[in-house]
Amino acid sequence: MVSGNTSVLGLIGDPVGHSLSTFMHNTVFKQLNLDYVYVPFNVKKENLSDAILGAKGLNIAGLNVTIPHKINVINYIDEIDSVAEMIGAVNTIKFNNGKAIGYNTDGVGAIKGLQEISSLKDKKVIILGAGGSSRAVGFQLAISGINELLITNRNIEKAKILTDDFKAKLRNTQQEVFPDFNNEMIFNHSNFSILKNEIKDADILINATPLGLYPNVNPDPIIKSDILHSDLIVYDLIYNPLETITLKEAKKAKTKTISGIKMLVHQGATSLKIWTGVDAPIDTMEKTVINKLVL
Ligand code: NAP
Repeated sequence: MVSGNTSVLGLIGDPVGHSLSTFMHNTVFKQLNLDYVYVPFNVKKENLSDAILGAKGLNIAGLNVTIPHKINVINYIDEIDSVAEMIGAVNTIKFNNGKAIGYNTDGVGAIKGLQEISSLKDKKVIILGAGGSSRAVGFQLAISGINELLITNRNIEKAKILTDDFKAKLRNTQQEVFPDFNNEMIFNHSNFSILKNEIKDADILINATPLGLYPNVNPDPIIKSDILHSDLIVYDLIYNPLETITLKEAKKAKTKTISGIKMLVHQGATSLKIWTGVDAPIDTMEKTVINKLVL
């Protein structure tokens, strides 16, 4: 029950009507008896600055930030965490003593999904796509001890720009900031034509494109089962549908598979920890979003 003492958290984006985070967080608050409420706010691009100022004025405790504001919001916050700064995007804000502090939990959320079933140390990872998710997940992988990262994209120029940015930012970073970053790490980029060869000795393949996203669930897959191997982990960042065209191909090749649900849940749990200090019940969050998706 909302009272005069309830702390308000929320989501700013446009659109926000489809938000699963709203159900996920409010279910946790109820289960853990936390006096918080999570509210989605539809914020147009031209109102972003007012929204952040208004959130401060209303004593809102924290916000998630989604499309189209993740990059622009950096202009309106007071401080930014080192990982969010490197990624160049913020999806979580904590308001503290009148200051808005920005974080990015997308990359770490995705990685936690992987770490549920594998270590990352010395792994070779291939990412399909060179957009915002590829950027967040790629940076987080690089600072988590992997040995090789290959960014593949339809538009090879975008893959090159992203890979060059990874190299430039990480090579100039002090080891103390990201102690797990391997200075010998290999960064490569390509289009999809070299996937067959590169997958042979890869450990993890991540789809960070919208190919197969609802409602276009049956497009021609970028990777077919005959170029996969059973030691590979295939992770699709898409969470709707739970079993995407990419994961169907992976299952045919008997690889381990991970749904984007894991990223959604872990990024939410990491944001919740930043706002409240509480370790979220991952299972409850996962069940809540899966129930919403299959209804
Ligand atoms: P984005 O910034 O728009 O980037 C999309 C990337 O996918 C681009 O590199 C684009 O290539 C490529 N692409 C688009 N359509 C393609 C197609 N038909 N075939 C091959 N490549 C294609 O998008 P994003 O923010 O990175 O998000 C990507 C996906 O990640 C989303 O669809 C979403 O489902 C998923 N996601 C999941 C979560 C989660 O919590 N689980 C969070 C965020 C995103 P070009 O450069 O060649 O156009």
